[in-house]
Amino acid sequence: MFPEMASQTKLVGIAKLAAESQPLDAKRRVEYRDLETRRFIGRASGRKMPFEWTINPYRGCEFGCKYCYARYTHEFMELRETEQFEREIYAKRFHPDAFRRELARIPLADGICLGTATDPYQPAERRFGITRKILEVFFEERGRTLSITTKSDLVGRDVSLLEAIGKRNVLHVFVTITTTNERLARQLEPYAPRPALRLQAIEKLSSAGIRVCVLCSPLMPLINDSRSSLNAVAEAAANAGAVYMMGGVLFLKPCAQKAFFPFLEESFPSLLRRYRERYGVRPFLDGHYPEMMSERMKQTRERFGLNRKPIGYQPEQWMGDPQMELFNLQS
Ligand code: SF4
Repeated sequence: MFPEMASQTKLVGIAKLAAESQPLDAKRRVEYRDLETRRFIGRASGRKMPFEWTINPYRGCEFGCKYCYARYTHEFMELRETEQFEREIYAKRFHPDAFRRELARIPLADGICLGTATDPYQPAERRFGITRKILEVFFEERGRTLSITTKSDLVGRDVSLLEAIGKRNVLHVFVTITTTNERLARQLEPYAPRPALRLQAIEKLSSAGIRVCVLCSPLMPLINDSRSSLNAVAEAAANAGAVYMMGGVLFLKPCAQKAFFPFLEESFPSLLRRYRERYGVRPFLDGHYPEMMSERMKQTRERFGLNRKPIGYQPEQWMGDPQMELFNLQS
């Protein structure tokens, strides 16, 4: 059901904007809609985030990962059906000058992450190019700290732009690979590009000198958390040129449980009861298991040389470097 039919109650804020939005384009499975947005850059809400600000060019994500924690963002628009998040994709209207003004208000020292509640390189990006337009603004910047998170090989399209941004700003691209097992990846992330394509993207970006980290997240007990599974991801990522690997244990809010538990029932029925017991109480696991996985991740990083942390590096043309200023004047 689409928003204009969804509710007779008075809608406000983002829910009202969503209800008034116009269809842009429709494929058989997915409908794209257009969304006016008051602010493009939002404050990071998590306590332990290594960045202060987030940018999400779209609302919803067509990749439809079974564990996706971002499904709650559709609930802000009163879209509560599990599949609406992956079938009704909202392309935010992008106004470059308004975005520039927003960006100018963000302190230079603050980190910004592109793609925390949607994949900025999902199929909608091929049509609307909003991520690309955002990056074109970052191309004008210097001294920023920007990270991008994606599961899509489409990020390779922007390699030249990213290379240029990375020369004047601290840039990291995080490519998520939860498993190298194609069958398992298809079950977990049904509409995302295959792991092999993501590895090709890592190779393409790394070859251009862009620092790429592999994000093996979420780690799901008894699904992708074995040493052999982590080793396979790490080995493939290291061979493709990634510099760092990280990953965290599954976080399963109630909105994510609505997609994840039916997936378990279908694909891993023997695990369903244990997941329900553990995640039924709170959306995260604590105690021994996360500590064990943190240690396992550390050992995997060290074994495959994926331990160049995404901090403490300065790009080629860092702000305030007098040598570089001279170089720029001369070139
Ligand atoms: S790619 Fe990210 S945002 Fe998209 S469905 Fe998967 S987990 Fe959610």
